[in-house]
Amino acid sequence: MWCANVEWSEIDCGEVLSLLERYVDDEVPLEAREPIEQHLVECPECLERKEFRVRLQEIVRTKCRRAELPPGLEDKIRSALARTV
Ligand SMILES: [Zn+2]
Repeated sequence: MWCANVEWSEIDCGEVLSLLERYVDDEVPLEAREPIEQHLVECPECLERKEFRVRLQEIVRTKCRRAELPPGLEDKIRSALARTV
């Protein structure tokens, strides 16, 4: 993984990924957001994962407000998440 050559960031992909869920939920303190955002600017892999989570969160929120999840969607989300992590 090319992210191992971190010169441009104080935190690595593992740390970003472990914080990503809370970051997307806006639960990361401000001082921790900055290095994450910096990392996302320079790491397409983590950016892609972050955007995936943001989209997923939007989908879940929208669907949950309007109606129950369609059959199979929950499984799809679960397996998608399992692939991402
Ligand atoms: Zn990364």
